[in-house]
Amino acid sequence: MILRVLFGLCLAASLTACSRDAAPTPGPEATDLIAETDAWPHGAMVAAADPRAVDAAVTVLEAGGHAVDAIIAAHAVLGLVEPQSSGIGGGGFLLVHDRDSGETLVYDGRETAPATIDENLFVVDGEVLGFIPAWQSGRAVGVPGQVALYEAAHKAHGIAEWQDLFQPAVVLAESGFEVSPRLAGFLVNERLMSFIRLNEDPASAAYFFPGGTALAAGDIRENPAYAEMLREVAETGPDAFYQGPRAERIVAAAQAAPLGGSLSADDLAAYEVKIRAPLCGEFRDLSICSAPPPSSGGVTQSAILGLYDRLLERRGTDGEGARLIAWVDAMRLAYADRDHYVADPDFVPVAAEDLIHEDYLDARAGEVADPSAKPQPGDPGVVLGRGPMIDLWGRDTTEDAPGTTHLSVIDSYGNAASLTASVEAPFGTSRMVDGFLLNNQLTDFARNPELGGLPVANAPAPGKRPRSSMSPVIVFDEDGDVRMVTGSPGGNSIVAYVSKTLIAVLDWEKSAAEAVRLPNIVARGEAVTVETNTELGPAYAEILRHAGYEVRESSGENSGLHVIVVTEDGLDGGADPRREGTVGTVAHKD
Ligand code: GLU
Repeated sequence: MILRVLFGLCLAASLTACSRDAAPTPGPEATDLIAETDAWPHGAMVAAADPRAVDAAVTVLEAGGHAVDAIIAAHAVLGLVEPQSSGIGGGGFLLVHDRDSGETLVYDGRETAPATIDENLFVVDGEVLGFIPAWQSGRAVGVPGQVALYEAAHKAHGIAEWQDLFQPAVVLAESGFEVSPRLAGFLVNERLMSFIRLNEDPASAAYFFPGGTALAAGDIRENPAYAEMLREVAETGPDAFYQGPRAERIVAAAQAAPLGGSLSADDLAAYEVKIRAPLCGEFRDLSICSAPPPSSGGVTQSAILGLYDRLLERRGTDGEGARLIAWVDAMRLAYADRDHYVADPDFVPVAAEDLIHEDYLDARAGEVADPSAKPQPGDPGVVLGRGPMIDLWGRDTTEDAPGTTHLSVIDSYGNAASLTASVEAPFGTSRMVDGFLLNNQLTDFARNPELGGLPVANAPAPGKRPRSSMSPVIVFDEDGDVRMVTGSPGGNSIVAYVSKTLIAVLDWEKSAAEAVRLPNIVARGEAVTVETNTELGPAYAEILRHAGYEVRESSGENSGLHVIVVTEDGLDGGADPRREGTVGTVAHKD
């Protein structure tokens, strides 16, 4: 009872941290709720990066589970079958819409920096570490947020029993899962393996290279340590992860990595999920909601769509590539702002609402520069009369490599959940504890804490969360009904990949699958990357070159877009053919 009251307060506060309690509680009987629900006519759907995760989610949804239940069951499977992307050694952002109350919340399960670091986390002997040594170091490991996120979301929304959610992953881990071609491909990718240290960590080496040979596609891999850990989490809650011997093993593994690090058992015990209001921007009569800072997802998606529409209005939609060029210019402007201003709002002031304010976007749309020039950040402080902001911060040069996964779910009651989860770069820090990999999420901080004598907003600090690009999105129509759920992995290119599906579905009238298949285009900085190994990619590249952009051709991008669109005819799903995902459906029950 006390736990429920505490949690109720925590939800009511809505913009606050929610501490972890033991003993997750089940919700009401699922079958009663199905019987009560007559107003959602579309059935349920899940789109995620692996068919086994989709199956786990479908089973939960068929039994009357909430979208959040399906997300947890599916993600626990992904941590096993897609360990290079995400898992319980990492974190993520979960956006949940509750159809009954109309409330939409963000569960921020982002990794946090240890309490004893300082802004020079990645400065060694006066030199800023390069990305690869930082990525493979113990200093990159943030306190994982994933298990605490599961618990906080389940307590608020869960219908299925907490214990049951981990069963599909436990069974698969014990009986063994078939190694997918994508996972096997990473293990023999010479370039990747030349700079990550899977082979230097005895646990990772034994798991991924049994007998010294890389796991091959089709091999059966058991993971009893992962099964054991999930069973403990199922029985006793997140304390099985954040306290006691397992927490000690996590700390020891981080410290055994190059350059050690200051992660401590106290850091793990103190982890808190933050429950935040989503950041929502307008696009015509739609509302585009996503994760607020410390993710740049919400700010940047809303800015891109707002700028896109303003540019179309100014220039018209005639002419070859008018819409394509408006999208590219919108990305160039929005990325420049994102890189300059967005960081953890609990540590630095982030004027997120100002960056998507209609007056600011009106002015910003007029700042499109010569296509060959490097886009510069704007200054919402000047436009909105709040005083200049641009010189508060030095320029941030954060880089990241693509890991991460995205799951989209709509359940049989019309609730929606959108989770982007990550261990950051492929295989995180390459260090394995109890069958899962530790993240390297702290490399999402600016490694150089100042530039040009100015502090960088996204510099490391104790307890701070590094800026993310994760963009779990839910789109609402003018009546507040869910219109679309989407998101993607892809490092800072997430912003571009997700904006492609939003514009393609909402403006170009593409189906979910068509939108996902369109070429990815990333316009961050001077050059525009165009995915030319796609049907339309070469033509898009030609249009942009002709218009004066420096085009960088890409022979394949790392998106993993998983999309659900609510149409008059029902749910329309799309899974990204660039990864191994599928779409699962549950028919509407009368
Ligand atoms: N760490 C990145 C972020 O939070 C995501 C990495 C990826 O998608 O590969 O934005």
